Amino acid sequence: MRVLNGYEPASVLGFFEDICNIPHISYHEKELSDYCVAFAKERGLYYEQDELGNVIIIGEATPGYEDVEPIIIQGHLDMVGDKVPECTIDMEKESIRIMVDGDYITADGTTLGGDDGIAVAYGLALLDANDIPHPRLECVFTICEETGLEGASAIDLSCCKAKRLLNIDSEDEGVFTAGCAGGMRADCKIPVTMTSKSGVVCEIKTTGFLGGHSGIEIDRGRANANVMMGRFFLCIKDKLACDVVSMAGGVKDNVIPKNANATFIVEEANVDALKKAVEEFNAMIKAEYGVTDSNIAIVLAVKDVAECAVLTDASKEKAITALNLMPNGVQAMSQDLPGLVETSLNMGVMKIDAEGIQTCFSIRSSVATAKEYLAAKLEQITKSLGGEISYHGEYPGWEYARESKLRDLCIKVYEKQTGVTPKVEVIHAGLECGLLADKIEGLDCISLGPNMRDVHTPDEVISISSIARVWEFLKAVLAEK
Ligand SMILES: [Zn+2]
Repeated sequence: MRVLNGYEPASVLGFFEDICNIPHISYHEKELSDYCVAFAKERGLYYEQDELGNVIIIGEATPGYEDVEPIIIQGHLDMVGDKVPECTIDMEKESIRIMVDGDYITADGTTLGGDDGIAVAYGLALLDANDIPHPRLECVFTICEETGLEGASAIDLSCCKAKRLLNIDSEDEGVFTAGCAGGMRADCKIPVTMTSKSGVVCEIKTTGFLGGHSGIEIDRGRANANVMMGRFFLCIKDKLACDVVSMAGGVKDNVIPKNANATFIVEEANVDALKKAVEEFNAMIKAEYGVTDSNIAIVLAVKDVAECAVLTDASKEKAITALNLMPNGVQAMSQDLPGLVETSLNMGVMKIDAEGIQTCFSIRSSVATAKEYLAAKLEQITKSLGGEISYHGEYPGWEYARESKLRDLCIKVYEKQTGVTPKVEVIHAGLECGLLADKIEGLDCISLGPNMRDVHTPDEVISISSIARVWEFLKAVLAEK
């Protein structure tokens, strides 16, 4: 039984349901990529599929539109796979279970993949229709956007003739994105030496930290759990002797970490002083972060006496220095666009043990040289502590164009349809447009999409009425000559 039968726009929702029925989390997009290829073959449309799974499908101009500039409709094939702990679906192999709740489509216990399945659904519905006038359509569907824009980075666009691109990977109807930051991941590794000591084993862990997305929520001023571990040891180091066994925190470079923990030993005589220090530390961070993370605290657990491998004093000093002195958070706000974060970084992952002091950052900036300078600072600190840094997944920013014919067209159509002027935004998060614009000279881009909420989480929803309005908008944009 099809869940979305009877809802409009039927063609878009039909393709969207097909897509939801095919597992397609990042690195597992092959089946969906092949589905797009089968779609093109059945309809005799020109297509290209590369070895990664990126797909391009061309729909020639409809009669009367042969001389209108071609346009790229673009989105990504992969989705973030997240689920509630009780959910037993294997998202690599099994399809999710979608449901309708009022105006919203959602999935039972998992992410929905409206980000970015809806873009693929729009593209296929446009290519499939016989009654929608349009110029030459070049549908570009990429893999692994969510893991570091790998598909957009590698794709060959030489079969595309368009110099304008509609990216359907934004989540607020009525808000057009017209620029984004560039970024990269930096991995720092500093060697340590260990020794053996015995004492009372203690553990601390964070609780009540809100975390968030490092591209979207870095300006909220929320506490970073990894940095907080460093601050705790900086705070107590002159008050009581302690030796660090290990620390760990965070899940991904681009996620502001909520959870971090540390294991260390103290002398038995110092346990009471430690408890008092934790209390004082909690009072301090509650006062500092009362607005951003109102329930913030660290929790102490005192265990038994044991002999442990611990960092030497010199290595412990390096760990405290790295966690506290490596820059973190917003570094600069834009002078051109008030309210926009220009440059930031996030210590997303941290691990300290016999293997070394390892920190992993997501660095972002809308100014390429500011991004490079920040990376160089991080490298300087890492090297001064005897370590090494490596960079991964660098992607260029998408610079706001003062003049954009496509943006003007989208604004005009939107105003005509709704009577409202849309918002035009530049964002600090990354989009594929920067990489794609690097491949086609003079590419004019804009990013938009229907209303979604809680993307990348099992609470993700997408609005059916908004899907319908954006569908009418897309058709109206394509109908313009
Ligand atoms: Zn997306």
